Amino acid sequence: MSMFCYQCQETARNTGCTVRGVCGKNEVVANLQDLLIYSLKGLANVVVKNNIAAKDLDGINEEVLTGLFMTITNANFDEEAIEKQIEKMIALRDRLVELNGSAGLHDAALFSVGDREDKLSKAAKVGILATENEDIRSLREMITYGLKGLAAYVEHANNIGLKEYEINDFVYEALNALLDDELTADDYVALTLKTGEFGVKGMALLDQANTSRYGNPEITNVNIGVRDNPAILISGHDLVDLEQLLEQTMDTGVDVYTHGEMLPAHYYPAFKKYPHFAGNYGNAWWKQVGEFETFNGPILFTTNCIVPPRTPGVVDRIFTTGASGFPGCMHFVADENGKKDFTPIIEMAKTLPAPEEIEKGSIVGGFAHNQVLALADQVVEAVKTGAIRKFFVMAGCDGRMRSREYYTEFAQALPKDTVILTAGCAKYRYNKLDLGDINGIPRVLDAGQCNDSYSLAVIAMKLQEVFGLEDINQLPIVYNIAWYEQKAVIVLLALLFLGVKNIHLGPTLPGFLSANVANVLVEKFGIAGIGTVEDDIELFLGE
Ligand code: SF4
Ligand code: SF4
Repeated sequence: MSMFCYQCQETARNTGCTVRGVCGKNEVVANLQDLLIYSLKGLANVVVKNNIAAKDLDGINEEVLTGLFMTITNANFDEEAIEKQIEKMIALRDRLVELNGSAGLHDAALFSVGDREDKLSKAAKVGILATENEDIRSLREMITYGLKGLAAYVEHANNIGLKEYEINDFVYEALNALLDDELTADDYVALTLKTGEFGVKGMALLDQANTSRYGNPEITNVNIGVRDNPAILISGHDLVDLEQLLEQTMDTGVDVYTHGEMLPAHYYPAFKKYPHFAGNYGNAWWKQVGEFETFNGPILFTTNCIVPPRTPGVVDRIFTTGASGFPGCMHFVADENGKKDFTPIIEMAKTLPAPEEIEKGSIVGGFAHNQVLALADQVVEAVKTGAIRKFFVMAGCDGRMRSREYYTEFAQALPKDTVILTAGCAKYRYNKLDLGDINGIPRVLDAGQCNDSYSLAVIAMKLQEVFGLEDINQLPIVYNIAWYEQKAVIVLLALLFLGVKNIHLGPTLPGFLSANVANVLVEKFGIAGIGTVEDDIELFLGE
């Protein structure tokens, strides 16, 4: 058995992981994930061929999103959990076939599999390389990765109770289109942009869900030191999980700290009422191996960003929920009312020492669209007077590669009349540097999680309106984005759909882009990679 995966920025040699993932994913997990995606395409085939509306598929819609989410980089390493999800999707698919008939359906909608070995043998025939034409494969995979990112964002919105069936309808349409051998490269380019359009809708939905339930993010100083109490570290993105954990830890003597992408939770007014919501511990996801050791307490993963732990002491303290999973770790499942009982993790926390301090001080964030637009007059004035020469959107991801030091050096080298707009875990490359402010406006404005890149787009569109510009690309905004996994792919596709051109993407261009598809992105959208800090700054600041 072997595997093939090239969905993330750290893929081996930027061409594909073929023996074991750089992320730690083994070949069984990789192949089962391929089969899970195939079964989702099959279910979509039944839905589309029979014109079934997503609004009639409650329950199934959620399982499809979870299935996609489970295959995101660093989300789920649990062979059994993925195998169970395949079986669930096939059973749901078969029920739909039974009700609607099987005429004209694709193999993906009809195949059956038995034990693990049988599943792996089927997976070998339906994985990424089953599409022989390199360009079609590249486009199909780019759309697939966009759908994975979209699914993650929509699942969070659904967890808060907000749904938009139009998005689910599109997910079925796109998954089914990925099976269609009649479609041309041009058709898939059009579908790629349509995926971006729904990326905007998905991020807008999540923004609406988060802000309607937890309030609009506001400027906040977040403590990065520690207290003396035992504590739980919560990682990932799901704010409902955080809310439930904060409620259940009230008056228990256990503090809660955020990690990685959960940091922006501190910016929401609703979470400020919890006195035991103690601060943020550590940095971006890839530094967790050392940081989890010194944290001392248990860790709850609500979504992706798991790095397989090496020390037994740490793995025993890891818990998962939602689409995340790791073999041997306790997994929390919601009851019929959506409630998760976090008692085991709270009880464990009480028995463990308080976190060890690894840094002191605070970081500032909370510059999502509502907060920035509240400062609009100040910002517009600073642009008009030349106090702010340019904005640099440096949203996106952080990762292990040394080449990502570029982003810290780039932030440090930017002239003092420039402002960085950030979102996602890329921020950890520069959010602890003292870059100062411009007339009271901090030079690093953190909007939030990677999905809050939507906020940055809203801000850009508002500035376009204020300055009366015809084209969003006339704004003094440069896009120098770092990517790592599939949520960043949907953010990129969303920006392309919004008409943003000349995005620089690094530290490497995606390995899943064939030469021809890369050319299309260069010619149509001006996408480019990164160079040296000096050359890029000169290029970006050239008038
Ligand atoms: S997710 Fe990335 S690192 Fe992991 S197997 Fe796929 S390409 Fe390799
Ligand atoms: S910022 Fe990037 S790496 Fe971090 S969680 Fe979002 S998509 Fe993943």
